[in-house]
Amino acid sequence: MKTNHEERQEMNRRQFLERLGIGSGVALSLLTIGSVGAIASRSRGKASGAFSPLQDETGKAASQMTYRTQNGSGEKISLLGFGMMRLPKEQEQVNELVDYALAHGINYFDTAPIYGGGTNEEATGKALSRHPRSSYYVATKMSNQNGSFWPIEKAKEMYEASFRKLQVDYIDYYLLHSVGGGGLDNLKGRFIDNGLLDFLLAERKAGRIRHLGFSYHGDVKVFDWLLDNNDKYHWDFVQIQMNYLDWQHAQRRGRRSRGDANAEYLYGRLEKLGIQCVIMEPLRGGGLSNVSDDVRLQLSRARKDDTPARWGFRWVGSHPNVLTALSGMNRMEHLKENIETFSPLEPCTDVENALLARIADKMAGLPTIGCTTCAYCMPCKYGVDIPGNFAFYNQAVTDGRLPLPDRSAPDFEEKRKAYLEAYRAAIPTAARATKCQDCGECLKKCPQELPIPTHMSRLVEMTRKS
Ligand code: SF4
Ligand code: SF4
Repeated sequence: MKTNHEERQEMNRRQFLERLGIGSGVALSLLTIGSVGAIASRSRGKASGAFSPLQDETGKAASQMTYRTQNGSGEKISLLGFGMMRLPKEQEQVNELVDYALAHGINYFDTAPIYGGGTNEEATGKALSRHPRSSYYVATKMSNQNGSFWPIEKAKEMYEASFRKLQVDYIDYYLLHSVGGGGLDNLKGRFIDNGLLDFLLAERKAGRIRHLGFSYHGDVKVFDWLLDNNDKYHWDFVQIQMNYLDWQHAQRRGRRSRGDANAEYLYGRLEKLGIQCVIMEPLRGGGLSNVSDDVRLQLSRARKDDTPARWGFRWVGSHPNVLTALSGMNRMEHLKENIETFSPLEPCTDVENALLARIADKMAGLPTIGCTTCAYCMPCKYGVDIPGNFAFYNQAVTDGRLPLPDRSAPDFEEKRKAYLEAYRAAIPTAARATKCQDCGECLKKCPQELPIPTHMSRLVEMTRKS
């Protein structure tokens, strides 16, 4: 017997197909390549397993993209999802990226009201609305995480604005944005006590939200509580941070709270409940693509032509309970390389998984800062470029260019000077770590719960002469 939730999902799907004017067995042809993928997927109902390559009018395969079937609705979602967080400023360039992505089989686009300083949903909406609504799935979020707890009216304004900016009358994937920071009290203040979650559940029932989930960072008690209450909420998906480093080493990265959980735990718990995962940070904010020469060598010995980024994506995509892995692609060459990686995705072998686990163990011993360069902490009112400083420092760690920890080492002064010179070239004076006033404003905005001012002091210390 079907649960209410399953019935509701089926009903939504049926209504949706009716709205498109297609039945469940319709053969489709001569549509844009992107729309063929999405509509054909919906016309196949709940069929599972491999998705046939898309066909153009000549019968030639137009895309080899790997798809995953969404439990319940049967939607075929491209395993590579487009993270819209960091888009180019020019709308024309956004349009080009989106057009190329759709034409090559990507059909999942993830944005949020707070991305791009509040402009991201609109840019996403402008680009996507030039295509048939049936050719893409759009994900956005309730980004009420900053400031004091919002009354429901204010949250509803953000919710309604998402529809306007995205130019849609339903949202495919809607998320409670970044839950976990601040623990259970924060979750309850943001979503439970003000009735906001009840409102979103009702919106899902009405079909304006097709799938409801949450993105999680931080205190694992929140993650567990939301899943313990799954009988009540029926989460359709959950977005987690997962990559081969965070699989077993998420707790090592100098965070303020002790509540962080390894991705292995998060993924395992979701898999047991049959809730599919959307993956963020598959390359850990670029940290797994800018690896040390030593790691690069180990990887290229195993697969000569593969970039470190491709290894990272293949590892994530090899997990069967992953619905889609988000990549923030703001340059055409990255988009093209990633599409190639996923068209089709070649899963990692056991030997390759073992190699990546060994590399992760080694990386975990390095004193990097667990910054994903998401820029949620920005702007800093004193002008510090927080992600820029941390990215510079992390790259220096990876490349073995840090002058510390040994000030008495014979090459300390030489290394310090070289580090300082490179730092001055990379970060403008007004944006350097020395400008940090320890005001603490950024602390509450960082989903990784990094002790940002403490790390800024560490960076300053790095350049001190003695
Ligand atoms: S603590 Fe430092 S980096 Fe953070 S907002 Fe304040 S001045 Fe900027
Ligand atoms: S410090 Fe935190 S919020 Fe800022 S960019 Fe890094 S991970 Fe994101």
